[in-house]
Amino acid sequence: MAYLALYRRYRPQDFDSVVGQEYVTRILKNQILSGRVGHAYLFSGIRGTGKTSIAKIFARAINCEHNEDGNPCNACDTCLNIEKPGVMDIIEIDGASNRGVDEIREIREKVKYPPTMGKYKVYIIDEVHMLTKEAFNALLKTLEEPPEHIVFILATTEPNKLPMTILSRCQRFDIKPISQERIAGQIAHILDDIGVSMDREAIDFIAYRGDSSMRDALSLLDQVIDIREADKTITYEDVLAFMGMVDEDQIAGLVQDVVAGDKGGVLLKFKAMREAGRDSGLVFGQLIDYLRKVLIVKTTGAASQEILGITESASQALAAVGQDVPDKRFYSMIDFLIEEKNKLRYSGLASVIVEMALLKLCDPDSLVKTVVQEQPERPAGQQRRQAGSVQGMPPRPAQAAPQHADNAVKSRAQEMQAAARAAGREPTAVSSAKETAALPASGADMAAQETPSAAVRTADGGVNTDNLYTGLVRSCQKQKQMLVRPLMCCKLAHKGDKKLALRFSADKDGQAAMGMLKLPVMFEFVKKTLCELGGDQYVLDLELVEKIMMRCPSLKRQNPSSTTTAWRS
Ligand SMILES: [Zn+2]
Repeated sequence: MAYLALYRRYRPQDFDSVVGQEYVTRILKNQILSGRVGHAYLFSGIRGTGKTSIAKIFARAINCEHNEDGNPCNACDTCLNIEKPGVMDIIEIDGASNRGVDEIREIREKVKYPPTMGKYKVYIIDEVHMLTKEAFNALLKTLEEPPEHIVFILATTEPNKLPMTILSRCQRFDIKPISQERIAGQIAHILDDIGVSMDREAIDFIAYRGDSSMRDALSLLDQVIDIREADKTITYEDVLAFMGMVDEDQIAGLVQDVVAGDKGGVLLKFKAMREAGRDSGLVFGQLIDYLRKVLIVKTTGAASQEILGITESASQALAAVGQDVPDKRFYSMIDFLIEEKNKLRYSGLASVIVEMALLKLCDPDSLVKTVVQEQPERPAGQQRRQAGSVQGMPPRPAQAAPQHADNAVKSRAQEMQAAARAAGREPTAVSSAKETAALPASGADMAAQETPSAAVRTADGGVNTDNLYTGLVRSCQKQKQMLVRPLMCCKLAHKGDKKLALRFSADKDGQAAMGMLKLPVMFEFVKKTLCELGGDQYVLDLELVEKIMMRCPSLKRQNPSSTTTAWRS
């Protein structure tokens, strides 16, 4: 028999064995006992917390012939056979791959027919937020007047993407993230059941890495138990070594050297980790996580134990590391590392990137300088004051500086909303305008200084769209690396004043590229950058077209003219 993944093998079969969702399962059991079963349910929550499992238990329970206290008996004919292929009383649909109107219409056709075995026919639509607008409309018609024998269970990780009309017709249940403690308990139970011995620290670590998701934790456990040897306990160190990660004490040692400015010590420790086969990228992630913990302990005191789920002594150890270091240095280190982490995704030089980052961390001044690179020369005193002002983030653009911060945010958000209205965009796209506006506008500043505005502005006061576009790509190379490739995969179509029209090929790559640019935070970044490069508001017009004869070029071009030629066909 094929190996069954632990997550499937230990999938709960009745409400009482669902871990961490007692509130939801109690209500559902009560509904079944009192015969008040609804026609539409929505289960929302992060991945791997039991949405589909609960849906399946519910589907069996409402059909079970010998229902016990609201639970399915899992022994009667219906319980045993209802999920078998060919019965079609429990129909599971993946909303991500059946997202069109035709699939939903097909459901509408079929709901007329009564169930073959039990009392109810249950449709479970997973990832329901992926349905198209038309599909939602079709679904709505069914939800409005469902036949007596139909129950819909919709499951989603993103309930905010569902139309109000759908939400208002469902009984909504929030499936909670599962606590580390409960996940650890389940892991211990499973290990006991399969006869594998593992130390408590290792179990806690796997539960922690599951990040509130039982499925993620059990998938990890599935891999880890393969390292077992007969009659030997799997230790925390075994698990760390298997995953290419290091012990938290080692990270603590690294951080102690960093705050002491001991560059040699830091690099020697990192070298030892690499030689022990640890993964540079994972170590980098652990470092960020550790600094975060230190900062939380420093800033929240006793509450940190509950926030981080750690003991008093662990909290004290973290506090000792951060004792003589100002909070803002931790903020800037974390900000800096998160920025640097993006580089790891694209580079085969992970260990070099980590080494350079570690060296910069040792020297707070070089860290600040790196982030605000290419600022114009200022008097020393002023530069220092500005550099430290926003948690080591780059200072605001000069024109916004004299304003009160709140006003600056408000007016920029208003500007953006006005521009969005002018562009006829949907309101959702501007929802993060305020957030975006609150971020320091450094990328565009730098690019603007490099690309003199004269290059963007023509002699007659118009705009050179090619140069504007080049400036945008350059800004993205510095500030939003992930936008560079999408920008390279489109064609500059319209060159009118105050409008930048980009066309994407209607294939998979083109759609992905446009999707990336359409993310509210990215979209606003591009608009803001255009505004600062060209000194005016721009309408950014994105559209898919049939086919663009273009290959995504290499990203190494530096010469503005060579970059732009590639855009014209
Ligand atoms: Zn039964």
